[in-house]
Amino acid sequence: MENLAPYASNSASSRGRVYAEESPTYRNQYQRDRDRIIHSAAFRRLEYKTQVFVNHEGDLFRTRLTHSLEVAQIARSIARELNLHEDLAEAIALSHDLGHTPFGHAGQTALNQSMKEFGGFEHNQQSLRVVDKLEQKYAEFNGLNLMFETREGILKHCSVKNAKELGEVAQRFIDGTQPSLEAQLVDLSDETAYSNHDVDDGLRYGLISFDELMDIKLFSGQYEKVKKKYNDLNERRLIHEIIRRMINVMVVDLIDTSRSNIEKAGLKSLDDVRKQKKPLISFSEDMAAQNLELKQFLRKNLYQHYRVHRMSTKALDILTSLFNAFMNDIRILPQEAREACEKLKRESGEAGVARGVADYIAGMTDRYAIVEYERIFNPRQLSFTNLIP
Ligand code: MG
Repeated sequence: MENLAPYASNSASSRGRVYAEESPTYRNQYQRDRDRIIHSAAFRRLEYKTQVFVNHEGDLFRTRLTHSLEVAQIARSIARELNLHEDLAEAIALSHDLGHTPFGHAGQTALNQSMKEFGGFEHNQQSLRVVDKLEQKYAEFNGLNLMFETREGILKHCSVKNAKELGEVAQRFIDGTQPSLEAQLVDLSDETAYSNHDVDDGLRYGLISFDELMDIKLFSGQYEKVKKKYNDLNERRLIHEIIRRMINVMVVDLIDTSRSNIEKAGLKSLDDVRKQKKPLISFSEDMAAQNLELKQFLRKNLYQHYRVHRMSTKALDILTSLFNAFMNDIRILPQEAREACEKLKRESGEAGVARGVADYIAGMTDRYAIVEYERIFNPRQLSFTNLIP
């Protein structure tokens, strides 16, 4: 890759893969990671997993897949401008949500509750579990055998207790050191993407209104600018013109602020990045405050909207019922999932079975979870419907 900054990640000085492999012929190592992620089953499932709204409620809602693509688009722009490794940023962005349950955060809450006595469930750690263990299609290893820096970037948060179990990839949560700049920028690209696309989805489906949003500085500032320039836009164009400007001001602020942070820190290498006390990729104080204001608004008015709550309640019921049914008798699991549970049981007993059940449930798409629920609890439902897991 051309023009990489000395403190960017690069495959030559990487900590490499767990299982040594020959270098690809015409790709760099992070391109290979990105390609493996795109070819994974977990990636394809993102299309049918809820971001905030259930996929089948409306065809234009974001799904985990389109969200991940938007994160990757933002992350690549930032990485390229800061001379960081664009392919690594893309690989992290495309895989950051692979471990998400069906039904968005409601699904994560449900599974975490069910897993309470068995070590809990956290979607971010599940993403790492997917790429390290659960994708099973290569001859020589389980998982995708990704580069250290990609795996490190996927693991955004982790308790010290879990970090001790995960080893090197989670060492920074014990040491209090920082991940690569590429990992840092994907984290904020994620926030930039979802804050904006949730405003877009929420507005278009009438769950939040222009009136309410006018109290939010990030929104009203861009609203005024668009109104001044184009006075009589229809609503769809108006929303888009505001949202694109919001994304742009956030990204420009992030690039300017991070560039200045990097200069001040006098970075010479990736090791210098890791030694910093706090992340160098950041918004300015003002933008961070505006972003926080928007996020709090969305939490109160969108994520806790009654229509979103209805879905959450259903999700809780579906996933908890499935979990309990499988835990009660793993013989009702499809063969592959049952064998995984039996193997995990030999390694860690009851907690192992629970982890296997959680893996199976977390891997479901929204509609697969609904079908599976029907098959198990509806006495009129034949169990031989042919929807493939
Ligand atoms: Mg995300």
